[in-house]
Amino acid sequence: MKKIGILTSGGDAPGMNAAIRAVVRTGIYNKAEVMGIKEGYKGLINGYIEEMNLSSVADIIHKGGTILRTARSDEFKTEDGKKKALDMLKKFKIDGLVVIGGDGSLKGAQSLSDLGIPTIGIPGTIDNDLGYTEYTIGFDTAINTVLDAISKIRDTSTSHGRANIIEVMGRNCGDIALHAGLAGGAESIIVPEEGLNIENVCKKLIQGKNRGKLHSIIMLAEGVGKRSPYELGNDIEKNTGIETRVTILGHLQRGGSPTAMDRIIASKMGAKAVGLLLRGAKSRTVGIRENKVIDMDIDEALCIEKVFDHATYNLTKILSI
Ligand code: ATP
Repeated sequence: MKKIGILTSGGDAPGMNAAIRAVVRTGIYNKAEVMGIKEGYKGLINGYIEEMNLSSVADIIHKGGTILRTARSDEFKTEDGKKKALDMLKKFKIDGLVVIGGDGSLKGAQSLSDLGIPTIGIPGTIDNDLGYTEYTIGFDTAINTVLDAISKIRDTSTSHGRANIIEVMGRNCGDIALHAGLAGGAESIIVPEEGLNIENVCKKLIQGKNRGKLHSIIMLAEGVGKRSPYELGNDIEKNTGIETRVTILGHLQRGGSPTAMDRIIASKMGAKAVGLLLRGAKSRTVGIRENKVIDMDIDEALCIEKVFDHATYNLTKILSI
């Protein structure tokens, strides 16, 4: 392996820079050239490619986002787009690729390895929605960001005796709501895997009020139920008589300096990806299982369904009685 390409794709996640740094430095340490591909598969198709050196990744480990930038590319999903990407890899003499991103990006990685380019995936998404790995880069930073928001909202919520719905990201996965809700002592956690039972949410609010509680935090994962968070807030207010406010955290959950955990895991995964390429792996993706960095065939990994942690969800119900 003489020349390794690296790209970030899909939604950005804090810790991607630490992974890029690890790939570049481990690659150079092992006498490979490393080429940075800007703007994901779109940049690959268009040849936004330049050589990276030790200094290209200096002073980035603490930065959120991705220095290689990221994009979504519908063109890459077409046969023609993939052929253009393959031609570009050949033109730049890139003989191995590392892709950092979510499940869509890993599907893209699989298709390039099917076309003969050895490709290694690294899971980078704040959603933690991949079944084969217990952890995706960016998740820890995102839940800490949400936790910080919960603490601030709790202060004002207590002062006014209000309930607060906090909507968080996750696509179809409730992990951000569950883990930030557990850490932040939320009274109710509404996730797609468990659905919404508004009667239970209201019952809990009324019970809390009756025993003198001054605030209530309701964690809501995006896209649960048919109501918007504001409609849900109105319904709760109508049913309980408790003033209910809504905060949608949105893209601020994607930003910020990565936590130590995200930097450490991203560094280990980046080094592992380069090691796999150097040992001749063709189509692998790295992940975390039982606190160890593992690797797996990409196809196999993408077939593993994400399992929701119902035990932790049940614990949050007990702890919020
Ligand atoms: P996030 O979870 O943060 O949204 P993601 O990697 O899942 O990240 P997607 O938008 O699903 O984000 O995918 C990123 C890019 O990967 C797409 O824009 C497309 O270029 C490529 N991609 C997605 N699905 C496929 C597929 N089935 N085959 C080939 N390429 C794909």
